[in-house]
Amino acid sequence: MTQKPTNPYLDLLSRHKATARKLKSEPIEGRKKKLKAMRRWVYQNRSLLHQAVFEDLHKPAAELDVTEIYPLLAELRHAIHRVKRWAAPKPVESGLTFLGTYSYVQAEPMGSTLIIAPWNYPLLLTLGPLVSAVAAGDTAVVKPSEMSAATSAIISRMVSELFDPDEICVIEGEVTTTTQLLELPFDHIFFTGSPTVGKIVMTAAAKNLTAVTLELGGKSPTIVDETADVHDAARKVCWAKWTNAGQTCVAPDYLFVHVKKKEQFLECLENELIHRYDDVCDYTHIINDKHEQRLKDLLSDAEQKGAKTFEPLELVGRMSPKLVLEVTDDMRLMQEEIFGPILPVLVYEDLEEVIQYLNHRPKPLALYLFTTSKANQRRVLTETSSGTAVINDAVLHFGHPHLQVGGVNNSGLGKAHGEAGFRAFSHEKSVLRQRRGYTIARLVYPPYNSFKIKLIDILLKYF
Ligand code: NAD
Repeated sequence: MTQKPTNPYLDLLSRHKATARKLKSEPIEGRKKKLKAMRRWVYQNRSLLHQAVFEDLHKPAAELDVTEIYPLLAELRHAIHRVKRWAAPKPVESGLTFLGTYSYVQAEPMGSTLIIAPWNYPLLLTLGPLVSAVAAGDTAVVKPSEMSAATSAIISRMVSELFDPDEICVIEGEVTTTTQLLELPFDHIFFTGSPTVGKIVMTAAAKNLTAVTLELGGKSPTIVDETADVHDAARKVCWAKWTNAGQTCVAPDYLFVHVKKKEQFLECLENELIHRYDDVCDYTHIINDKHEQRLKDLLSDAEQKGAKTFEPLELVGRMSPKLVLEVTDDMRLMQEEIFGPILPVLVYEDLEEVIQYLNHRPKPLALYLFTTSKANQRRVLTETSSGTAVINDAVLHFGHPHLQVGGVNNSGLGKAHGEAGFRAFSHEKSVLRQRRGYTIARLVYPPYNSFKIKLIDILLKYF
């Protein structure tokens, strides 16, 4: 009988578990020191990071600064200043029935964690969760995406310069590597990626009852209603959709525009695109040929089924922004997450149609509404569900350090960023402290004599 080969990362995990036990008693100052070292490294090696991400995505340096390096430094700064408060015990009320007790919730490190990251914001989405893991006092095995290999290599270098590999290490590799890592009983898995792989991660985690945070994707809708300021909406949609060439988890995936604003909005959007991306160097590449082909296939499927595509400007050597009109539900474009520079635009007359449409589809990661109507705002916020919602802007919320982000059902499980990230990587332990030799509960211990039965009646009636 052939024996199942031993998992190549088993020893690594036992070393991480041993370190995790030691980290539990490390003072918070130790965590802050590590976070400060990360901040220094990122700031001082900015040009190396620019080069690496450029190699992977041809991302302009300024765009990397704004969309990855700044949010990462802000996340680090935020954690450095607040981790002591986050980690402090949180007392809870005791009330009369718990007279004499003192209770609190104490965040303790989860222990050994696994971080699996995507390629689209390869720096931020790999190191952002690591900030939370370090703040929470965990060890971490970091698995960046194989598709953004240059950035993975620089992240690996940073981690090896700053951390003991038995505490934090980077494992690069493809699906086989991730599958092997997923077999192991980590204490927490933090995954960012597609809903399809999210299900694989959750299934694997279930075998060990490992806790998971799943930051997934999906089709985030945008609504421009009949009261919207279309110039403002076009400017913001243009930035949110075509930054990183649409390869953003919270990018507007498709857009509903009110019939009365359609012409004006499309004209503004075209002008905006021409103005923003006059210089091709300000526009990112599609990650690889496979993804570019996937996007072309989505477009040709839509065109074969009657959709009309417009290209407001041609960007040589890049996949240019595309607006697609006359789309229908049977097109793959309206069924799969686009994750590229293609924006289907649907026209509506009554907001009810849009709400019905959204409620018959998986709950998205983000929803954007451009409106000046308080009533429409209220309706969309209360009658639909999405991981996050933004009124009169788009994508901006993702960089807000005080605002947790995360999906709901198909778009994710659990929250990230700032304190929410810290909590995702912590176990919140409830502690009740009682005085020796005393407990009010003794009043209702058996035997149940008539006095105790009366007392229980009072308890049920008044407390
Ligand atoms: P992906 O799910 O294909 O890959 C994510 C990670 O999982 C990678 O590290 C990859 O190596 C690994 N992986 C891939 N296939 C696997 C398998 N069969 N078994 C185990 N591991 C596997 O996602 P992606 O293409 O890298 O990123 C795009 C997706 O991520 C989109 O759906 C996007 O919306 C989502 N995303 C979400 C967020 C968020 O914060 N919610 C952020 C960025 C991207």
